[in-house]
Amino acid sequence: MENTLNYAKQLDQKDELKSYRSQHHIPIQKNGKPFVYLCGNSLGLQPKTTEAHIKQELSDWKNLGVEGHFRAKNPWMPYHTFLTEAMARVVGAKPIEVVVMNTLTVNLHLMMVSFYQPKGRRNKIAIEADAFPSDKYAVESQIRFHGLDPKDCLIEIKARRGENCLREEDILEVIDQQGREIALVLMGNTNYYTGQFFNMKAISKHAHAQGCMVGFDCAHGAGNVQLNLHDSGCDFAVWCNYKYLNAGPGSLGGAFVHERHARSENLPRLEGWWGHDQDTRFKMRDAFNPMVGVEAWQLSNPPVLSMVAVWSALQLFDEVGMDRLRKKSIALTGYLETLIKRLGNEVINIITPSNPLERGSQLSIQVTNADKSLFDTISKAGVIADWREPDVIRVAPTAMYNSFEDVFLFYRILKEALGENVNKITIKQ
Ligand SMILES: *Cc1c(COP(=O)(O)O)cnc(C)c1O
Repeated sequence: MENTLNYAKQLDQKDELKSYRSQHHIPIQKNGKPFVYLCGNSLGLQPKTTEAHIKQELSDWKNLGVEGHFRAKNPWMPYHTFLTEAMARVVGAKPIEVVVMNTLTVNLHLMMVSFYQPKGRRNKIAIEADAFPSDKYAVESQIRFHGLDPKDCLIEIKARRGENCLREEDILEVIDQQGREIALVLMGNTNYYTGQFFNMKAISKHAHAQGCMVGFDCAHGAGNVQLNLHDSGCDFAVWCNYKYLNAGPGSLGGAFVHERHARSENLPRLEGWWGHDQDTRFKMRDAFNPMVGVEAWQLSNPPVLSMVAVWSALQLFDEVGMDRLRKKSIALTGYLETLIKRLGNEVINIITPSNPLERGSQLSIQVTNADKSLFDTISKAGVIADWREPDVIRVAPTAMYNSFEDVFLFYRILKEALGENVNKITIKQ
C-alpha cells in the first residue's frame, strides 16, 4: 500500500459501488471542492432521488386532498408497508418483525413498556456504561415510572480500568451472575462512542438463559453492519434512520419485535388505532384487535412526508444490499486504520476494536493531550467529522457514498494538523 492520493484513486476505480457516490448530494465548501464528509454516523447525506419523491407526495396532496389516502401514486393509507420489506432486509429480519414509526427514543420507551416488567427481585435493567445519554435517561425514567430507584435498579456494565471497550466475557459474566435480578438487558449494539460492535447473539443467549428480556439500540448499527436481528434472538430492537440510513434530519425510526412475540397477548403495550387489525381498523367501534407482529405497536397513521425520505434512501440500500455494502465498509475502514496508524501510536490511539468483526465503519481516534483546536484545524481544512470531549475524533467513512480518496484526504489533513500542533501535543509518559 502506498501513501499517495494516486493509490487511493486506484482503489476507487476498482470499487464496485463507486457509482453510488454521485447519487448523493455531497456538501460543497466555499472553494468549490466537496467537503471530506465523514459524519454519516451522525447525519447521513441526501440521496438525489429524495427531493423528487417528496415532491410527488406534495403534488398528490395538492391535487387529491384526502383522496390521496387511496388514490395517490403511492397511497398513503398503507404507506408504511411499502418500506417494510426493504427495511427488514437491511436489519436482517422477517417483514412481520419490522416497522418504521415514531422516532428512536419514543420507540425505546414503547418497547420498554412491553419488555421491562419489573417483578419482585427481578427488577433491574443492565446497560453498557457510557451508553448514549438519551438511552440512559429513557431507562432511568422507566425505572422511576415503576416506582423504583435507578440507584438500585440500574446495572452499568463497565470496561476494565484503563480500557475503552467492553470485553464480551465481562458482559456475559454480569448477565450470568446477576441475571436473576435483571428484567431487561439493553445495549447499544454498536457503541456510539467507541464504535464497538457487540456480539448480539451471545448476549441474547446468555440473557435468555437467565430469564431476562433483551433489547438493542441499533442507532449506530442499522445500515452500517449486518444486524441479523432475527437470528440474534433478541426480543426487540430500535434504531433511527438518519444516521447510516440517510433518511434526513430527525427522520422516523424503526422497531423490531421478534416473531416469538408476534401474538403478544401477555405483553402490556401502549396502543393506538394503527396497531388495530387493518381489516377492521376503520370500523372504529370495535374493541382493540391487534395486528399480528410489530405493527401492533403502531400508534398513529404514517407521516408520509417524512416517511417518503426513508423509503427513498431504502431503495438504494436495497439495490446495493448489505453484503456488498459491508464488504466495502470493511475495506474502507481498514484503509483508514492503516493510514492513521502510520501517524505513529505515540500520538494517536484508535479506541475502536481493530477486529473488523467487532466494529462497523466508525473509528474513534484519541489524540494524546490534544484539545479541540486540533479538530478546529481539520474542520477548517474541509473535514466534517465529530468531536467528543475530552479528546476523541469520531470519523465514519460510509460505504454508500464515501470514497477511498475521502479517506486519504482526511489522513493528509490530519497529518498536517498534527504537524502544526506538534508543539502543543506533549506525549503522555
Ligand atoms: C443517535 C442516537 C439516539 C438519538 O435518539 P433520537 O430519539 O433519534 O433523537 C439515541 N440513542 C443512540 C444510541 C443514538 O446513537
